[in-house]
Amino acid sequence: MDFDKKQLWKEILVEASEKVKKSHILTWFKDTAILSIEDNKVLIGVPTIFTRDWLKSRYAHLLLDLFKAHISEVLEISFEISQALSNSDDNRKVDIKKVWKDTKDNDKKPRRNMERREVRLVEGITSKLLNPKYTLENFVVGPENRLSHAACSAVAEHPGGAYNPLFVYGGVGLGKTHLLQAIGNEILGDNPDAIVVYIPSEKFINEIVEAIGKRHTQEFRSKYRKVDCLIVDDVQFLAHKETTQVEFFHTFNELFEANKQIILSSDRPPKELIQLHDRLRSRFEMGMIVDVQFPGYETRLAILQQKCREHQVLLSPEVLEFIAYNVRDSIRELEGILMQAIAQSQLEGRVPTLKSVADLMAKLNSSYEKNGFNGYEYPISSRQQAANIRPRNIDDVIDVVSAYFRIPRTDLLSEARKKEIMMPRQICMYLIRKELNFSFESIGKEFGGKNHTTVMHACDKIIKQLKREERLVLDINAIKKELGL
Ligand code: ADP
Ligand code: MG
Repeated sequence: MDFDKKQLWKEILVEASEKVKKSHILTWFKDTAILSIEDNKVLIGVPTIFTRDWLKSRYAHLLLDLFKAHISEVLEISFEISQALSNSDDNRKVDIKKVWKDTKDNDKKPRRNMERREVRLVEGITSKLLNPKYTLENFVVGPENRLSHAACSAVAEHPGGAYNPLFVYGGVGLGKTHLLQAIGNEILGDNPDAIVVYIPSEKFINEIVEAIGKRHTQEFRSKYRKVDCLIVDDVQFLAHKETTQVEFFHTFNELFEANKQIILSSDRPPKELIQLHDRLRSRFEMGMIVDVQFPGYETRLAILQQKCREHQVLLSPEVLEFIAYNVRDSIRELEGILMQAIAQSQLEGRVPTLKSVADLMAKLNSSYEKNGFNGYEYPISSRQQAANIRPRNIDDVIDVVSAYFRIPRTDLLSEARKKEIMMPRQICMYLIRKELNFSFESIGKEFGGKNHTTVMHACDKIIKQLKREERLVLDINAIKKELGL
Protein backbone atom coordinates (compact mmCIF):
# COMPACT_ATOMS: atom_id res chain seq x y z
CA MET A 1 0.00 0.00 0.00
CA ASP A 2 1.33 3.30 -0.96
CA PHE A 3 0.26 6.36 0.94
CA ASP A 4 1.50 8.92 3.34
CA LYS A 5 1.26 7.25 6.75
CA LYS A 6 1.92 10.47 8.56
CA GLN A 7 -0.80 12.34 6.74
CA LEU A 8 -3.26 9.51 7.36
CA TRP A 9 -2.45 9.43 11.08
CA LYS A 10 -2.94 13.14 11.31
CA GLU A 11 -6.32 12.93 9.62
CA ILE A 12 -7.38 10.08 11.89
CA LEU A 13 -6.37 11.99 15.00
CA VAL A 14 -8.28 15.05 13.87
CA GLU A 15 -11.31 12.83 13.31
CA ALA A 16 -10.79 11.14 16.67
CA SER A 17 -10.90 14.51 18.34
CA GLU A 18 -14.62 14.65 17.63
CA LYS A 19 -15.05 11.90 20.17
CA VAL A 20 -12.02 12.31 22.40
CA LYS A 21 -11.30 15.31 24.55
CA LYS A 22 -8.77 17.60 22.97
CA SER A 23 -6.54 17.48 26.01
CA HIS A 24 -6.53 13.70 25.83
CA ILE A 25 -5.40 13.78 22.24
CA LEU A 26 -2.50 15.89 23.33
CA THR A 27 -1.62 13.65 26.21
CA TRP A 28 -2.10 10.22 24.79
CA PHE A 29 -1.30 10.60 21.11
CA LYS A 30 1.84 12.60 21.50
CA ASP A 31 4.82 10.69 20.11
CA THR A 32 2.73 8.13 18.28
CA ALA A 33 2.91 7.05 14.66
CA ILE A 34 1.63 4.52 12.21
CA LEU A 35 4.49 2.05 11.98
CA SER A 36 2.99 -0.12 9.32
CA ILE A 37 -0.18 -1.18 7.56
CA GLU A 38 0.20 -4.70 6.33
CA ASP A 39 -1.96 -7.77 5.95
CA ASN A 40 -5.08 -5.87 6.99
CA LYS A 41 -3.36 -4.88 10.19
CA VAL A 42 -2.40 -1.44 11.41
CA LEU A 43 0.52 -1.19 13.77
CA ILE A 44 0.67 1.96 15.87
CA GLY A 45 3.91 2.92 17.54
CA VAL A 46 3.69 4.38 21.04
CA PRO A 47 6.43 5.62 23.35
CA THR A 48 5.58 3.90 26.65
CA ILE A 49 3.84 0.93 28.18
CA PHE A 50 1.31 3.26 29.76
CA THR A 51 0.35 4.80 26.47
CA ARG A 52 0.04 1.39 24.90
CA ASP A 53 -2.23 0.05 27.64
CA TRP A 54 -4.26 3.19 27.66
CA LEU A 55 -4.78 3.39 23.91
CA LYS A 56 -5.48 -0.30 23.69
CA SER A 57 -8.14 -0.24 26.37
CA ARG A 58 -9.81 3.03 25.49
CA TYR A 59 -9.35 3.84 21.86
CA ALA A 60 -8.66 0.67 19.90
CA HIS A 61 -12.28 0.42 18.70
CA LEU A 62 -12.58 4.03 17.76
CA LEU A 63 -9.29 4.00 15.88
CA LEU A 64 -10.18 0.81 14.06
CA ASP A 65 -13.45 2.32 12.88
CA LEU A 66 -11.68 5.43 11.69
CA PHE A 67 -9.08 3.41 9.84
CA LYS A 68 -11.76 1.32 8.17
CA ALA A 69 -13.38 4.46 6.86
CA HIS A 70 -10.11 5.29 5.09
CA ILE A 71 -8.93 1.84 4.14
CA SER A 72 -11.73 -0.68 4.08
CA GLU A 73 -9.41 -3.70 4.20
CA VAL A 74 -8.15 -2.88 7.68
CA LEU A 75 -9.37 -5.49 10.15
CA GLU A 76 -7.10 -5.20 13.11
CA ILE A 77 -5.16 -2.65 15.08
CA SER A 78 -2.28 -3.24 17.44
CA PHE A 79 0.22 -1.18 19.35
CA GLU A 80 3.93 -1.50 19.73
CA ILE A 81 6.28 0.29 22.05
CA SER A 82 8.95 2.21 20.25
CA GLN A 83 10.88 4.34 22.67
CA ALA A 84 12.61 6.14 19.84
CA LEU A 85 9.33 7.96 19.22
CA SER A 86 10.01 10.10 22.28
CA ASN A 87 13.04 11.59 20.52
CA SER A 88 12.20 14.97 19.13
CA ASP A 89 13.85 14.20 15.80
CA ASP A 90 11.96 11.01 15.07
CA ASN A 91 10.22 11.96 11.86
CA ARG A 92 7.75 9.10 11.75
CA LYS A 93 5.43 10.76 14.23
CA VAL A 94 2.98 13.53 13.52
CA ASP A 95 3.36 16.90 15.11
CA ILE A 96 0.65 16.71 17.72
CA LYS A 97 0.49 20.48 17.96
CA LYS A 98 -0.66 20.58 14.34
CA VAL A 99 -3.37 18.07 15.09
CA TRP A 100 -4.24 20.20 18.08
CA LYS A 101 -4.69 23.23 15.88
CA ASP A 102 -7.06 21.39 13.59
CA THR A 103 -9.22 19.99 16.33
CA LYS A 104 -12.28 21.56 17.77
CA ASP A 105 -12.13 22.34 21.41
CA ASN A 106 -14.65 19.98 22.88
CA ASP A 107 -13.30 19.95 26.39
CA LYS A 108 -15.87 20.64 28.99
CA LYS A 109 -15.99 24.06 30.54
CA PRO A 110 -14.70 24.27 34.07
CA ARG A 111 -17.09 22.94 36.68
CA ARG A 112 -16.96 26.12 38.65
CA ASN A 113 -19.43 27.72 36.29
CA MET A 114 -21.91 25.08 37.14
CA GLU A 115 -21.41 25.44 40.85
CA ARG A 116 -22.39 29.08 40.67
CA ARG A 117 -25.44 28.61 38.53
CA GLU A 118 -28.89 28.72 39.91
CA VAL A 119 -32.22 27.54 38.63
CA ARG A 120 -35.51 29.24 39.13
CA LEU A 121 -38.16 26.84 40.23
CA VAL A 122 -41.83 27.67 40.69
CA GLU A 123 -42.93 31.00 42.09
CA GLY A 124 -39.69 32.64 42.91
CA ILE A 125 -37.98 29.70 44.51
CA THR A 126 -34.40 29.34 43.46
CA SER A 127 -32.05 26.47 43.98
CA LYS A 128 -28.46 26.06 43.15
CA LEU A 129 -28.12 23.85 40.14
CA LEU A 130 -27.32 20.36 41.25
CA ASN A 131 -24.06 19.14 39.92
CA PRO A 132 -24.74 15.94 37.97
CA LYS A 133 -21.28 14.69 38.80
CA TYR A 134 -22.46 13.95 42.33
CA THR A 135 -24.29 10.65 42.37
CA LEU A 136 -24.83 7.97 44.97
CA GLU A 137 -23.35 5.52 42.54
CA ASN A 138 -20.00 7.23 42.20
CA PHE A 139 -19.70 7.85 45.92
CA VAL A 140 -17.19 5.24 46.95
CA VAL A 141 -18.42 3.25 49.91
CA GLY A 142 -16.04 1.97 52.55
CA PRO A 143 -16.56 0.85 56.11
CA GLU A 144 -16.26 4.47 57.28
CA ASN A 145 -19.20 5.82 55.33
CA ARG A 146 -21.34 2.79 54.68
CA LEU A 147 -24.05 3.87 57.08
CA SER A 148 -24.30 7.43 55.77
CA HIS A 149 -24.43 6.18 52.20
CA ALA A 150 -27.17 3.72 53.10
CA ALA A 151 -29.17 6.43 54.86
CA CYS A 152 -28.84 8.72 51.85
CA SER A 153 -29.95 5.94 49.52
CA ALA A 154 -32.96 5.25 51.71
CA VAL A 155 -33.94 8.92 51.69
CA ALA A 156 -33.48 9.12 47.92
CA GLU A 157 -35.76 6.15 47.55
CA HIS A 158 -38.43 7.30 49.99
CA PRO A 159 -38.23 11.03 50.42
CA GLY A 160 -40.35 12.23 53.30
CA GLY A 161 -40.27 8.76 54.83
CA ALA A 162 -38.73 7.45 58.01
CA TYR A 163 -35.48 9.40 57.84
CA ASN A 164 -36.76 12.91 58.13
CA PRO A 165 -34.91 15.11 58.56
CA LEU A 166 -31.66 13.50 57.46
CA PHE A 167 -28.74 15.15 59.16
CA VAL A 168 -25.27 14.47 57.73
CA TYR A 169 -22.28 15.78 59.60
CA GLY A 170 -18.52 15.55 59.30
CA GLY A 171 -15.31 17.47 58.64
CA VAL A 172 -14.50 19.61 55.65
CA GLY A 173 -14.05 17.90 52.31
CA LEU A 174 -15.35 14.51 53.39
CA GLY A 175 -18.22 14.25 50.96
CA LYS A 176 -21.25 15.88 52.63
CA THR A 177 -22.11 18.10 49.69
CA HIS A 178 -21.55 15.18 47.36
CA LEU A 179 -24.06 13.06 49.28
CA LEU A 180 -26.63 15.83 49.64
CA GLN A 181 -26.57 16.73 45.98
CA ALA A 182 -26.58 13.06 45.02
CA ILE A 183 -29.85 12.59 46.90
CA GLY A 184 -31.29 15.60 45.08
CA ASN A 185 -30.15 14.22 41.74
CA GLU A 186 -31.63 10.85 42.51
CA ILE A 187 -35.00 12.25 43.57
CA LEU A 188 -35.16 14.33 40.42
CA GLY A 189 -34.15 11.32 38.35
CA ASP A 190 -37.12 9.38 39.69
CA ASN A 191 -39.47 12.30 39.53
CA PRO A 192 -38.41 15.17 37.28
CA ASP A 193 -41.34 17.28 38.45
CA ALA A 194 -40.31 17.21 42.08
CA ILE A 195 -39.29 20.56 43.48
CA VAL A 196 -35.89 19.96 44.96
CA VAL A 197 -34.15 22.95 46.47
CA TYR A 198 -30.49 22.71 47.30
CA ILE A 199 -29.23 25.74 49.11
CA PRO A 200 -26.07 26.49 51.07
CA SER A 201 -27.09 27.85 54.45
CA GLU A 202 -25.40 31.22 53.83
CA LYS A 203 -27.65 31.77 50.86
CA PHE A 204 -30.68 30.58 52.80
CA ILE A 205 -29.84 33.00 55.59
CA ASN A 206 -29.63 35.85 53.09
CA GLU A 207 -33.02 34.99 51.69
CA ILE A 208 -34.58 34.91 55.12
CA VAL A 209 -32.96 38.18 56.11
CA GLU A 210 -34.26 39.76 52.95
CA ALA A 211 -37.78 38.44 53.55
CA ILE A 212 -37.72 39.74 57.10
CA GLY A 213 -36.45 43.10 55.90
CA LYS A 214 -39.29 43.38 53.44
CA ARG A 215 -41.78 41.98 55.92
CA HIS A 216 -42.46 39.14 53.54
CA THR A 217 -42.04 36.30 55.97
CA GLN A 218 -45.52 34.90 55.39
CA GLU A 219 -44.84 34.75 51.67
CA PHE A 220 -41.50 33.21 52.34
CA ARG A 221 -43.10 30.40 54.31
CA SER A 222 -45.84 29.73 51.83
CA LYS A 223 -43.33 29.79 49.04
CA TYR A 224 -41.29 27.08 50.68
CA ARG A 225 -44.37 25.02 51.40
CA LYS A 226 -44.34 24.05 47.75
CA VAL A 227 -40.93 22.48 48.00
CA ASP A 228 -40.81 18.68 47.98
CA CYS A 229 -37.29 18.35 49.23
CA LEU A 230 -35.29 21.06 50.96
CA ILE A 231 -31.56 20.52 51.22
CA VAL A 232 -29.66 23.02 53.35
CA ASP A 233 -25.90 22.56 53.30
CA ASP A 234 -23.65 23.61 56.19
CA VAL A 235 -26.24 24.64 58.75
CA GLN A 236 -23.53 25.46 61.28
CA PHE A 237 -23.59 28.95 59.77
CA LEU A 238 -26.99 29.50 61.34
CA ALA A 239 -25.25 29.95 64.67
CA HIS A 240 -25.88 33.34 66.27
CA LYS A 241 -28.46 34.26 63.64
CA GLU A 242 -31.38 34.51 66.03
CA THR A 243 -34.18 35.81 63.83
CA THR A 244 -33.11 33.62 60.94
CA GLN A 245 -33.33 30.61 63.18
CA VAL A 246 -36.87 31.50 64.19
CA GLU A 247 -37.91 31.76 60.58
CA PHE A 248 -36.12 28.57 59.66
CA PHE A 249 -37.90 26.83 62.50
CA HIS A 250 -41.28 27.76 61.02
CA THR A 251 -40.30 26.74 57.53
CA PHE A 252 -38.95 23.49 58.87
CA ASN A 253 -42.21 22.73 60.64
CA GLU A 254 -44.35 23.52 57.64
CA LEU A 255 -42.36 21.19 55.45
CA PHE A 256 -42.07 18.49 58.03
CA GLU A 257 -45.78 18.42 58.72
CA ALA A 258 -46.46 18.12 55.02
CA ASN A 259 -44.13 15.09 54.92
CA LYS A 260 -41.65 16.88 52.75
CA GLN A 261 -38.07 15.71 52.97
CA ILE A 262 -35.53 17.89 54.72
CA ILE A 263 -31.83 17.19 54.43
CA LEU A 264 -29.20 19.08 56.39
CA SER A 265 -25.46 19.00 56.71
CA SER A 266 -23.13 20.45 59.24
CA ASP A 267 -19.53 20.25 60.32
CA ARG A 268 -20.63 18.85 63.71
CA PRO A 269 -23.52 16.88 65.19
CA PRO A 270 -26.68 18.75 66.23
CA LYS A 271 -25.94 18.47 69.92
CA GLU A 272 -22.73 20.42 69.41
CA LEU A 273 -24.47 23.23 67.57
CA ILE A 274 -24.74 25.05 70.84
CA GLN A 275 -25.48 28.45 69.39
CA LEU A 276 -28.69 27.12 67.98
CA HIS A 277 -32.04 27.48 69.66
CA ASP A 278 -32.90 24.35 71.57
CA ARG A 279 -36.10 23.93 69.66
CA LEU A 280 -34.39 24.11 66.27
CA ARG A 281 -31.66 21.77 67.44
CA SER A 282 -34.19 19.27 68.68
CA ARG A 283 -35.90 19.42 65.30
CA PHE A 284 -32.59 18.54 63.67
CA GLU A 285 -32.30 15.57 65.98
CA MET A 286 -35.70 14.18 65.22
CA GLY A 287 -34.82 12.06 62.22
CA MET A 288 -31.70 10.24 61.19
CA ILE A 289 -28.23 11.50 62.07
CA VAL A 290 -25.23 10.07 60.25
CA ASP A 291 -21.63 11.12 60.06
CA VAL A 292 -19.04 10.96 57.32
CA GLN A 293 -15.58 10.12 58.52
CA PHE A 294 -12.23 10.37 56.91
CA PRO A 295 -11.89 7.10 55.04
CA GLY A 296 -9.04 4.68 55.55
CA TYR A 297 -6.31 3.92 53.06
CA GLU A 298 -8.22 1.30 51.09
CA THR A 299 -11.22 3.55 50.56
CA ARG A 300 -9.01 6.50 49.66
CA LEU A 301 -7.32 4.38 47.02
CA ALA A 302 -10.70 3.28 45.69
CA ILE A 303 -11.81 6.93 45.54
CA LEU A 304 -8.72 7.82 43.51
CA GLN A 305 -9.38 4.96 41.13
CA GLN A 306 -12.97 6.10 40.77
CA LYS A 307 -11.89 9.67 40.03
CA CYS A 308 -9.43 8.40 37.42
CA ARG A 309 -12.25 6.52 35.73
CA GLU A 310 -14.44 9.60 35.79
CA HIS A 311 -11.74 11.75 34.26
CA GLN A 312 -10.70 9.02 31.87
CA VAL A 313 -7.10 8.97 32.93
CA LEU A 314 -4.82 6.15 33.74
CA LEU A 315 -2.21 6.59 36.45
CA SER A 316 0.20 3.99 37.68
CA PRO A 317 -0.88 2.09 40.80
CA GLU A 318 2.21 3.29 42.64
CA VAL A 319 1.28 6.93 42.09
CA LEU A 320 -2.27 6.34 43.30
CA GLU A 321 -1.07 4.39 46.31
CA PHE A 322 1.37 7.12 47.13
CA ILE A 323 -1.28 9.84 47.03
CA ALA A 324 -3.77 7.71 48.97
CA TYR A 325 -1.20 7.00 51.61
CA ASN A 326 0.06 10.50 52.11
CA VAL A 327 -3.09 12.58 52.01
CA ARG A 328 -4.63 12.34 55.42
CA ASP A 329 -6.88 15.33 55.80
CA SER A 330 -9.68 15.41 53.33
CA ILE A 331 -10.99 13.85 50.18
CA ARG A 332 -11.09 17.25 48.59
CA GLU A 333 -7.35 17.47 49.04
CA LEU A 334 -6.94 13.94 47.75
CA GLU A 335 -8.89 14.83 44.65
CA GLY A 336 -7.11 18.16 44.32
CA ILE A 337 -3.72 16.53 44.18
CA LEU A 338 -4.92 13.99 41.67
CA MET A 339 -6.37 16.73 39.47
CA GLN A 340 -3.17 18.75 39.66
CA ALA A 341 -1.14 15.71 38.71
CA ILE A 342 -3.43 15.09 35.76
CA ALA A 343 -3.33 18.72 34.68
CA GLN A 344 0.41 18.78 34.93
CA SER A 345 0.75 15.62 32.92
CA GLN A 346 -1.58 16.96 30.24
CA LEU A 347 0.38 20.17 29.98
CA GLU A 348 3.68 18.42 29.82
CA GLY A 349 2.38 15.48 27.85
CA ARG A 350 3.80 12.85 30.16
CA VAL A 351 2.52 10.40 32.69
CA PRO A 352 2.87 11.52 36.32
CA THR A 353 5.58 9.71 38.22
CA LEU A 354 5.96 9.24 41.91
CA LYS A 355 8.64 11.86 41.97
CA SER A 356 6.58 14.43 40.07
CA VAL A 357 3.59 13.86 42.35
CA ALA A 358 5.76 14.13 45.44
CA ASP A 359 7.15 17.41 44.13
CA LEU A 360 3.66 18.61 43.44
CA MET A 361 2.52 17.77 46.95
CA ALA A 362 5.51 19.55 48.38
CA LYS A 363 4.61 22.60 46.35
CA LEU A 364 0.96 22.53 47.39
CA ASN A 365 1.55 21.94 51.02
CA SER A 366 4.56 23.42 52.68
CA SER A 367 4.37 21.01 55.58
CA TYR A 368 5.42 18.25 53.23
CA GLU A 369 8.26 20.34 52.00
CA LYS A 370 10.08 20.29 55.31
CA ASN A 371 10.59 16.61 54.95
CA GLY A 372 11.23 16.57 51.24
CA PHE A 373 10.59 13.49 49.20
CA ASN A 374 12.47 11.52 51.79
CA GLY A 375 9.93 12.35 54.44
CA TYR A 376 7.02 10.79 52.64
CA GLU A 377 5.74 7.52 53.74
CA TYR A 378 4.91 4.95 51.20
CA PRO A 379 2.98 1.76 51.09
CA ILE A 380 5.28 -1.25 50.72
CA SER A 381 4.66 -1.70 47.02
CA SER A 382 6.03 1.76 46.32
CA ARG A 383 8.96 1.48 48.62
CA GLN A 384 11.45 1.07 45.86
CA GLN A 385 10.52 4.51 44.60
CA ALA A 386 12.11 6.03 47.63
CA ALA A 387 15.46 5.04 46.30
CA ASN A 388 15.26 7.95 43.90
CA ILE A 389 16.73 10.38 46.36
CA ARG A 390 19.70 8.61 47.89
CA PRO A 391 22.57 6.53 46.64
CA ARG A 392 21.44 3.11 45.56
CA ASN A 393 22.63 -0.04 47.24
CA ILE A 394 22.31 -3.74 46.56
CA ASP A 395 19.08 -3.95 48.53
CA ASP A 396 17.49 -1.23 46.45
CA VAL A 397 18.25 -3.08 43.25
CA ILE A 398 16.89 -6.33 44.64
CA ASP A 399 13.77 -4.57 45.95
CA VAL A 400 12.99 -2.90 42.66
CA VAL A 401 13.62 -6.01 40.59
CA SER A 402 11.52 -8.01 43.04
CA ALA A 403 8.65 -5.52 42.74
CA TYR A 404 9.01 -5.20 38.98
CA PHE A 405 8.77 -8.91 38.29
CA ARG A 406 6.57 -9.58 41.30
CA ILE A 407 8.96 -12.16 42.66
CA PRO A 408 9.70 -12.27 46.39
CA ARG A 409 13.16 -11.12 47.43
CA THR A 410 13.82 -14.45 49.03
CA ASP A 411 13.32 -16.18 45.68
CA LEU A 412 15.77 -13.83 44.00
CA LEU A 413 18.34 -14.63 46.67
CA SER A 414 17.61 -18.35 46.65
CA GLU A 415 19.09 -21.18 44.64
CA ALA A 416 15.92 -21.65 42.61
CA ARG A 417 16.67 -22.39 38.99
CA LYS A 418 13.31 -21.72 37.42
CA LYS A 419 13.57 -19.48 34.37
CA GLU A 420 11.11 -16.88 35.79
CA ILE A 421 13.45 -16.43 38.73
CA MET A 422 16.84 -16.94 37.06
CA MET A 423 16.41 -14.12 34.60
CA PRO A 424 15.42 -11.45 37.14
CA ARG A 425 18.24 -12.67 39.39
CA GLN A 426 20.68 -12.23 36.53
CA ILE A 427 19.30 -8.76 35.92
CA CYS A 428 19.98 -7.93 39.56
CA MET A 429 23.55 -9.10 39.27
CA TYR A 430 24.07 -7.24 36.02
CA LEU A 431 22.74 -3.97 37.45
CA ILE A 432 24.69 -4.27 40.67
CA ARG A 433 27.86 -4.89 38.71
CA LYS A 434 27.31 -2.28 36.03
CA GLU A 435 25.59 0.50 37.95
CA LEU A 436 26.97 0.04 41.46
CA ASN A 437 30.41 -1.27 40.48
CA PHE A 438 30.45 -4.12 42.95
CA SER A 439 33.01 -6.85 42.34
CA PHE A 440 31.86 -10.23 41.02
CA GLU A 441 33.03 -11.79 44.31
CA SER A 442 31.02 -9.52 46.53
CA ILE A 443 27.92 -9.93 44.39
CA GLY A 444 28.34 -13.69 44.61
CA LYS A 445 28.42 -13.42 48.40
CA GLU A 446 25.22 -11.40 48.51
CA PHE A 447 23.46 -14.01 46.44
CA GLY A 448 24.00 -16.90 48.80
CA GLY A 449 27.72 -17.42 48.37
CA LYS A 450 27.81 -17.99 44.64
CA ASN A 451 31.11 -18.38 42.84
CA HIS A 452 32.34 -15.24 41.05
CA THR A 453 32.28 -17.05 37.73
CA THR A 454 28.54 -17.63 38.12
CA VAL A 455 28.08 -13.89 38.50
CA MET A 456 30.29 -13.19 35.49
CA HIS A 457 28.33 -15.65 33.46
CA ALA A 458 25.04 -14.01 34.51
CA CYS A 459 26.28 -10.55 33.50
CA ASP A 460 27.56 -11.78 30.14
CA LYS A 461 24.28 -13.45 29.45
CA ILE A 462 22.33 -10.27 30.06
CA ILE A 463 24.73 -8.22 27.93
CA LYS A 464 24.28 -10.64 25.04
CA GLN A 465 20.52 -10.73 25.36
CA LEU A 466 20.33 -6.96 25.47
CA LYS A 467 21.59 -6.94 21.90
CA ARG A 468 18.81 -9.17 20.74
CA GLU A 469 15.77 -8.65 22.90
CA GLU A 470 13.93 -5.40 22.88
CA ARG A 471 11.73 -6.59 25.72
CA LEU A 472 14.75 -6.91 27.98
CA VAL A 473 15.94 -3.43 27.06
CA LEU A 474 12.58 -2.08 28.05
CA ASP A 475 12.56 -4.01 31.31
CA ILE A 476 16.03 -2.90 32.29
CA ASN A 477 15.34 0.68 31.34
CA ALA A 478 12.18 0.67 33.40
CA ILE A 479 14.00 -0.79 36.39
CA LYS A 480 16.82 1.74 36.05
CA LYS A 481 14.32 4.54 35.84
CA GLU A 482 12.59 3.29 38.95
CA LEU A 483 15.94 3.28 40.69
CA GLY A 484 16.67 6.78 39.46
CA LEU A 485 19.71 5.54 37.56
P1 ADP B 1 -17.81 18.45 52.09
O1 ADP B 1 -19.11 18.97 51.59
O2 ADP B 1 -17.98 17.42 53.18
O3 ADP B 1 -16.85 19.51 52.50
P2 ADP B 1 -17.54 17.50 49.39
O4 ADP B 1 -18.83 16.78 49.26
O5 ADP B 1 -17.42 18.82 48.73
O6 ADP B 1 -17.12 17.64 50.92
O7 ADP B 1 -16.40 16.51 48.90
C1 ADP B 1 -15.15 16.93 48.42
C2 ADP B 1 -14.78 16.12 47.21
O8 ADP B 1 -14.50 14.80 47.61
C3 ADP B 1 -15.90 16.04 46.21
O9 ADP B 1 -15.37 16.21 44.91
C4 ADP B 1 -16.45 14.64 46.37
O10 ADP B 1 -16.91 14.14 45.13
C5 ADP B 1 -15.25 13.88 46.85
N1 ADP B 1 -15.58 12.74 47.70
C6 ADP B 1 -15.66 12.73 49.05
N2 ADP B 1 -15.96 11.51 49.50
C7 ADP B 1 -16.07 10.71 48.41
C8 ADP B 1 -16.38 9.31 48.22
N3 ADP B 1 -16.59 8.49 49.24
N4 ADP B 1 -16.41 8.87 46.95
C9 ADP B 1 -16.17 9.68 45.91
N5 ADP B 1 -15.89 10.98 46.02
C10 ADP B 1 -15.84 11.50 47.26
MG1 MG C 1 -19.75 20.96 51.42
